[in-house]
Amino acid sequence: MAQMDSYSFQGSDLDRAAHLRAGAAELLARSDARILPVWRGKLLVSGDPADRLAWLPPGQPGLEGTAAETIFLGLEDGAPCFACDISGWEPAGLDGEELDRFADLSEQVHPDFPPGTRFAELRAVMTRLPLVDAEAAAVARALTQWHGTHGYCAKCGAKTAMAQGGWQRLCPACGGEHYPRTDPVVIMLVTHGNRVLMGRNPRWPQGMYSLLAGFVEPGEAPEAAVRREVLEEAGVPVGRVRYLASQPWPFPTQLMTAWAGEALDDGITVDPEELEDARWVSREELARSFRGEHPEITPARHGAIARAVLDHWLADRLGSLSADGDCR
Ligand SMILES: [Zn+2]
Repeated sequence: MAQMDSYSFQGSDLDRAAHLRAGAAELLARSDARILPVWRGKLLVSGDPADRLAWLPPGQPGLEGTAAETIFLGLEDGAPCFACDISGWEPAGLDGEELDRFADLSEQVHPDFPPGTRFAELRAVMTRLPLVDAEAAAVARALTQWHGTHGYCAKCGAKTAMAQGGWQRLCPACGGEHYPRTDPVVIMLVTHGNRVLMGRNPRWPQGMYSLLAGFVEPGEAPEAAVRREVLEEAGVPVGRVRYLASQPWPFPTQLMTAWAGEALDDGITVDPEELEDARWVSREELARSFRGEHPEITPARHGAIARAVLDHWLADRLGSLSADGDCR
């Protein structure tokens, strides 16, 4: 049997301890508290290759003045775990162009942090992190980015303040309460006989094809979003749709839900505003691309649920895809 591809951020034993959030400031004062610094969405890691998050103690040089903006992630082995955003730090010799790349492999070393630690892009290290680290990283990345872009009240425009250990923002002017957002996305395995519908976004690396995906709109069921997105982007009508699995995707705050749908017709009309190309890919072609032998198609990266869905479809084992299944 083929080796099953798993996917990142499937959930873990991280105890979010929501009942302790209101008292997060006292937990931060405990001697066993530990803090994960986040810099412009990148997490502090250690190990070579990077395989663990690098937690730092309160009072660590380089984290001065961050206590009021520290986010309570939960308890791990009884120890309170926090994240703090130090995006204001300017590394020497920073290559801004590298940071903007689709796959940012650059790493930044903070001069005050322990030797061997460095900031790495989560997409680059997610497949090597243990589940509990990956979940903590996903929470830290999603929440720091939400706070970074939601500093003002959506009702009255006044500056808001972090509350509930970072799981809320409160407006002192109008009393408005604001909560972190999660954006549902559908990603779909649309098949027609022995072929799967794959497309490529013009912003992706050369040759990369993946499953079609799109945001669920307000008032819309995800099954309807699957049919709407495929019809809009590729002009393909989809009949029966069924749920497969889900994946938190903190880039920045998506929740990916994977679905299988049956195409009612195989004619493709690409919407050039959405896709550069869409095509039907046979199992044989997909297998060749997974082996790196297809001249035109590079598959989605490991760790993404798209890759796992395709891998399970190729092996005819979609039923074992769910995080509750046997593919861990
Ligand atoms: Zn307000």
